[in-house]
Amino acid sequence: NQDEEKLTEYLDELEFLAFTAGATVQKRFTQKLTQPDSKTFIGSGKAIEIKEYVKENEIGTVIFDDELSPSQLKNLEREMEVKILDRTNLILDIFAQRAQTSYARTQVELAQYQYLLPRLTRMWTHLERQKGGIGMRGPGETEIETDRRIIRDRITLLKEKLKTIDKQMATQRNNRGKVVRAALVGYTNVGKSTLMNSISKSEVFAENKLFATLDTTVRKVVIGNLPFLLTDTVGFIRKLPTQLVESFKSTLDEVREADLLIHVVDISHESFEDHIESVNHILMEINAHQKPMIMIFNKIDDFSYEKKDEDDLTPSTRKNISLEEWKKTWMAKSKYPTVFISALTKENFPEMKKMIYDEVMKIHISRFPYND
Ligand code: GDP
Repeated sequence: NQDEEKLTEYLDELEFLAFTAGATVQKRFTQKLTQPDSKTFIGSGKAIEIKEYVKENEIGTVIFDDELSPSQLKNLEREMEVKILDRTNLILDIFAQRAQTSYARTQVELAQYQYLLPRLTRMWTHLERQKGGIGMRGPGETEIETDRRIIRDRITLLKEKLKTIDKQMATQRNNRGKVVRAALVGYTNVGKSTLMNSISKSEVFAENKLFATLDTTVRKVVIGNLPFLLTDTVGFIRKLPTQLVESFKSTLDEVREADLLIHVVDISHESFEDHIESVNHILMEINAHQKPMIMIFNKIDDFSYEKKDEDDLTPSTRKNISLEEWKKTWMAKSKYPTVFISALTKENFPEMKKMIYDEVMKIHISRFPYND
């Protein structure tokens, strides 16, 4: 069943997010509703079922795969007597954990305050006195309890601070001159940093967790005597909190101002086509969807395929489509130069480098028509 497959994939992703934030998931609950309950998101029977499970197993946190409204969050916490996190809060928490530079920290702090403002009266701030744990990093409890005006002032201040940094970064980008700029884009954890490392021979942090990269890294790369700048950007994700899209302006400006987008896809992931859609959606949102692009399907070394029996009549699923079939489909479907590689084993690297070289060269020639 397609819907159930999707649901499992979504919850797999949420579990991976929870793992990245430092939690272990004990149990999954699902419910089919025509629309979410306006007061408690889930039905009351389901809420009781979860509450009992939480009590019996001494669970510390319940995580929802959607953004809950402030009142839903409050009602659920009151009813279940446990800390509730939603997807947005979880992602913000991971960002807070990973922010390295003061710029990234400022961006995350702003996004956290914006998320917090309408949710100031949350119950667990009174219930749970000790600091720390998921959802508690960043703005501390005492600040949560202070009045909204102080937080609004803080938001204004952070926005001003970011504006100053944004200006500095824009100047920096201008000073890079007319060198062609390529930006790696893609869903989180597809191998962008790994690829960046192997193309530029630099050491960018790569890890099998979501959002290893928060700050952009810019490297000068030379392929066949042709120099260009390569930027590694923050990974995109389904339902990226809007607060983050807004506050990561400079990071996304790197994408917006790039001459060429290198869209990296993890073809070993069952939902890779959904990931492509999510990334394209965000590119559209930031108005960067009409740039020249190269599609790089990564991790072909990790592609698994369940061969179907000749007389098996069950319909095909993603799992029994072979790599060759995917290649054919995407070569035909893609409007862009497309290549299939492994950043780990470097399979098809020459082909990929030639493709990047050709695209960068096209842009270079259009910029310096009289040079050669
Ligand atoms: P990013 O979030 O897109 O920057 O992804 P990373 O570069 O951090 O990689 C995420 C994970 O995928 C890491 O554990 C990498 O080692 C792994 N990875 C990257 N490229 C490949 C590949 O070609 N094959 C396999 N099997 N794993 C890869």
